[in-house]
Amino acid sequence: MLKIEHIGIAVRNLETANKLFSILLNTEVYKEETVESEGVMTSFLKTGETKIELLQATGEQSPVSKFIEKKGEGIHHIAFEVENIKDAMKRLKESGFILLSEEPRVGADNKLVCFLHPKSTNGVLVEICQERK
Ligand code: ZN
Repeated sequence: MLKIEHIGIAVRNLETANKLFSILLNTEVYKEETVESEGVMTSFLKTGETKIELLQATGEQSPVSKFIEKKGEGIHHIAFEVENIKDAMKRLKESGFILLSEEPRVGADNKLVCFLHPKSTNGVLVEICQERK
């Protein structure tokens, strides 16, 4: 793994959260993007090298909506950047982690992504991501 690429935070209202996190981090949202296939509207802020991804569900069937129902708003996932996502997925699968998809998926921010089931990672939803070339 190269570094923590971003931390994902589940919010009920993206617009309100954008304002709050802009003030908190003293910076502007630099990107907003809806990922229909994942059922999320996202926005990104950067503080130093670290990105924060805010996530609002697009509908009731969205995993983010289910997450908020169960746990409330808050830290949703930690994303680690990898050089080669297919290699990383293979290694993690062989090490016994449960992958939530067999193939990398197209995520927000020009990334290929794969999530690991929290029951195999001490309750933390882990995303691995690779920049799309
Ligand atoms: Zn993410």
